[in-house]
Amino acid sequence: MSDKGRTFGRGGAGAVFGSKNLIAVAVSPDKSTKVSVSDEEEMDIKNKSGSVYKAKVKLDVGKFTRKEQHYGSLASMGSLGLAGMVNNFDQLIHNNMIDTNHELSDIQKVDGEALRNHADIAQDGEDVIEVKKDTCYNCSITCKRKTTIKNSKGEVVDAGEGPEFETVALLGVNLSIYDLPLIARANYMANRYGMDTITLGSTIAAFVELYTIVKDSNSDLSEGEKLFLNDFGDFDKKYGEPRFGNKDYLLSIIDMVGKGNGIGKYLAQGSYRFCERYGHPELSMTVKKQELPAYDPRASYSQALCYEMSNRGGCHLEGGYTAALSYCAGYAEWPGNRIEGTPLISKNATLKGTAIDIIGVCVYSSFAISLDEYAPIINAVTGDNLNSGSLLKFAHRTISLERLFNIRCGKTENDDWLPDRFYEIPTLVEGEETLCSRDVFSKMHKEYYNALGWNEKGVPEDTTLENLGMKEYMNREYKTK
Ligand code: SF4
Repeated sequence: MSDKGRTFGRGGAGAVFGSKNLIAVAVSPDKSTKVSVSDEEEMDIKNKSGSVYKAKVKLDVGKFTRKEQHYGSLASMGSLGLAGMVNNFDQLIHNNMIDTNHELSDIQKVDGEALRNHADIAQDGEDVIEVKKDTCYNCSITCKRKTTIKNSKGEVVDAGEGPEFETVALLGVNLSIYDLPLIARANYMANRYGMDTITLGSTIAAFVELYTIVKDSNSDLSEGEKLFLNDFGDFDKKYGEPRFGNKDYLLSIIDMVGKGNGIGKYLAQGSYRFCERYGHPELSMTVKKQELPAYDPRASYSQALCYEMSNRGGCHLEGGYTAALSYCAGYAEWPGNRIEGTPLISKNATLKGTAIDIIGVCVYSSFAISLDEYAPIINAVTGDNLNSGSLLKFAHRTISLERLFNIRCGKTENDDWLPDRFYEIPTLVEGEETLCSRDVFSKMHKEYYNALGWNEKGVPEDTTLENLGMKEYMNREYKTK
């Protein structure tokens, strides 16, 4: 699914389209048709007692969502404004998520300030990014960025949308690449091929780590490693060595993945299948075979739990977005290393995030607008009588149904775990060596399941299904798999 520079590449929608020989579904509304709403007055943004006006007031004061002149970070720097904060709290991924240790001076080359002021900070002879603010339809937050890259002669090298925070994290700093114009070009290329930059970047990071292991090995190579070298061919001679910190190879490998050429054919399968082919599945930074985004789980246990529990795999949106609770949630702030109470924080974030997805609004709006404000807006459109509790119940039904679907596809509680390195290799968080403890997370899993009315294997209980109005799913064969 694509909206010019924005392509929905995660979660397999493209694969589903492909399996059905479906190229596109175009939505083209008839502009002469007026969408009827149940309560025009409630929807009138000038009506100070109406719910739309109240929601707009919250957007206008929210730390992330307010206007640029009031230092709203999304409006002034786009989503890349998150990079500095995420790095300050040692959450920012590095070198295929082996640690979170960056030099501040490197991050300052690729953060929101760097993008906003790139024309002023670019060195002589370097490409310059010119930035224009943009927005999705009717959104006051205005976090989108249209960018144009020009060379030192002022000639346009390339242009497109982005780069967003996740793209800079996965196609940049997770590869130890701190070159904003190069990351922007990699982003445009991925957009043109319709590839998700999180999955693409994470798969390239696994490729780089595997190459480093194989090339630096002093022992006999395994059959899988020999196969890797065979598939790799003379890539390094043509395009440069794929090592962390080297950037020569980046555009070439993206082009090969997009076209399915050379080793790009195997990278195009995603990091899990790629790493499994060569006998190194532990290098794939995935949950349920989907690549993790930019926040390191060791620095935020609530985010770690959300990644684990997400029904579609490693995802900060579907499973709950809590990393930012460590530093920008006002009275709702929640320390990244806290254990007691974390399963409930994660469960609540999962339900809220799912409700926001069901409503179909951007997650950034939910930094300011709560479900209590969204429910009356929906009522004003549809004539329903919903409240925030109804929306949370819809979300509970949704994730329970997804869970039953996953169970039917053979997933078990054993799939609700992060890659091994997060339990085995510590990283420095606020000066302390930190990792996720398997014992602690095992207890948190049970508390999370219990809070949703699922049994200790993560299967929705009959009473839960009955309470959610899903009796028809009780006593089916997949419940016992
Ligand atoms: S809808 Fe979301 S992504 Fe689009 S401009 Fe608004 S805040 Fe940004």
